[in-house]
Amino acid sequence: MRYLDLVEVYEEIGKTTKRLEITDILVNFLKSCPPELIDKVVYLTQGRIYPEFVPLELGMADKMIIRCIAQASAAKESEVEQLYKTMGDLGKVADAMLSRGKKQVTLDLFSTTKKAAHVTIERVYADLDSIARAQGPGSQEEKIRILSDLLRDSSPKEAMYIIRTVSGTLRLGVADMTILDALTIAFTGSKDARPDIERAYNVSSDLGAVAKTLVLNGLDAIKNFKPSPGRPIRSMLAERLSSPSEILEKMDGKCAVEYKYDGERVQIHKTEEGEMLLFSRRLENITHHYPDIAKLVLEGIPLKSYIVEGEIVAVDPDTGDLLPFQELMHRRRKYGVEEAMQQYPASLRLFDILYADGSDLTIKTYPERRSLLSNVVHESERLRLAEQKIVDNPDDLEAFFQEAISNGCEGLVAKSLGPESIYKAGARGWLWIKYKRDYKSEMTDTVDLVVVGGSMGTGKRAGHIGTLLLAAYDDDQDVFRTVCKCSTGFTDEDIRNMRKLLEPYIIPHRHARVDSKITPDIWVVPAKVIEVLGAEITLSPIHTCGLDAIRKGAGLAIRFPRFTGRWRDDKSPEDATTVKEIIEMYNKQLKKIA
Ligand code: ATP
Repeated sequence: MRYLDLVEVYEEIGKTTKRLEITDILVNFLKSCPPELIDKVVYLTQGRIYPEFVPLELGMADKMIIRCIAQASAAKESEVEQLYKTMGDLGKVADAMLSRGKKQVTLDLFSTTKKAAHVTIERVYADLDSIARAQGPGSQEEKIRILSDLLRDSSPKEAMYIIRTVSGTLRLGVADMTILDALTIAFTGSKDARPDIERAYNVSSDLGAVAKTLVLNGLDAIKNFKPSPGRPIRSMLAERLSSPSEILEKMDGKCAVEYKYDGERVQIHKTEEGEMLLFSRRLENITHHYPDIAKLVLEGIPLKSYIVEGEIVAVDPDTGDLLPFQELMHRRRKYGVEEAMQQYPASLRLFDILYADGSDLTIKTYPERRSLLSNVVHESERLRLAEQKIVDNPDDLEAFFQEAISNGCEGLVAKSLGPESIYKAGARGWLWIKYKRDYKSEMTDTVDLVVVGGSMGTGKRAGHIGTLLLAAYDDDQDVFRTVCKCSTGFTDEDIRNMRKLLEPYIIPHRHARVDSKITPDIWVVPAKVIEVLGAEITLSPIHTCGLDAIRKGAGLAIRFPRFTGRWRDDKSPEDATTVKEIIEMYNKQLKKIA
């Protein structure tokens, strides 16, 4: 199939911001795709070549890409570099350089057969795959050779999108949920099967695999889609409440409560072949950061294959006390992992088991899963199950909460014991409810917001990005709505580094999934999540979060937002505090005042 067909789809998508229109464009295209290409087309539309959890990267820096464009267009590297400086988009640079190059070639040859060069999707995918897999000595030259050849054989428009894919700047703004909608309509004819298809995605985190199964094996295969060690299951998430009585009321009077550890959530897989893999809450492969944790679990769970979930915590080796989350960030480094392991030893508190020796446990209830977990885990000093208790009255719940806090935890996670208490992958729901210390006072509640823009500072901050435009996530509409501008809490160093931090995400216009009445100096793709401490939530004429929800024409704003010092790199923008949560917090405040 021609890559140009896919390019035309990209161009059409680029012209609209309406989710329904994007879905229609995708439906038409997916229907015309040969079945064996479907997974590749899905990954390419997501701007990548593998699912997110596969730790292979194309590994081509701007400098290398510039060299490829120069080689393919028979120009000097300095010329390409110069153009990049003025255009700021390597894709456009490729388009411009190749348009020029191709014209010259045509003139030089006095060609009468003006056949445009085109490449197939198969070729583009295979070449990008080879680039990602090239490793070791000579691999840089190999990558450059493959990409230059590919560009040479492509039309300028195709080259533009190939380069955007290689440089990770495709950014079509197509959400995973939109692709799921399109797959459902294209291959089942209606939206009825959407929950089955979404579940397959939630237990595999692999849109390409879901698409391929659907097209090649049909809906029945999707309904039987099982988790499989090696493919991360999307995390089940908790709702939040601020008092024991509210929690018990929601849980029909009785529930389990577990310590809410302040660490890093991890999903640990052991494959049939005995390989250990660790995935973060955002489904990144973090195995290389925690070889000690992998070993701990391998020794502590004598099953052939499994998927378990828990929280990695930092523990003071001298006292055994839990240490704050920040201590673990020292482990998130590329080099010197051995050294960091000694300096910052980590422990694990397991709280769930989702798969064991061929059985899908996500469909079992919480009590069944928890009892299996305690049967299979051989606990040791560093490997333990999360502290847990069954409660049926507010006093016991509050006492356990106080105990958790005094043991260095953030609070509790209450878990339903009922027949419906399965593991709901990828969903935030009421089967789990968190009860955190900071909700005790609305004035110190933290929220996790998404950076959607930035503005230049003044005075000491002149020349630097000094203010961030922040948004909450609207999970109904799949967009980000602004809720505050934040300029306090940043150190001088934070401010100096801000541009570098945001650089990869800067775009020349508002992102399609951002709803804002404010125009900042720069726009960015919603990607970075920041923890902010707000003083109060107020009605606002300028912010779009919760617009019309409380009062017609007014949105909600967080007053006196202050950066807590914590970038939530473990959260994707869709994991940020939702618009609904902000509305709920606002209503709670009102109740308090009343
Ligand atoms: P937060 O910022 O409050 O941690 P979150 O969005 O990361 O929230 P939630 O599902 O809302 O995640 O809250 C539960 C989080 O608490 C989990 O993601 C996990 O990292 C952590 N956690 C700690 N202990 C437990 C536990 N016993 N059971 C479930 N989650 C736990």
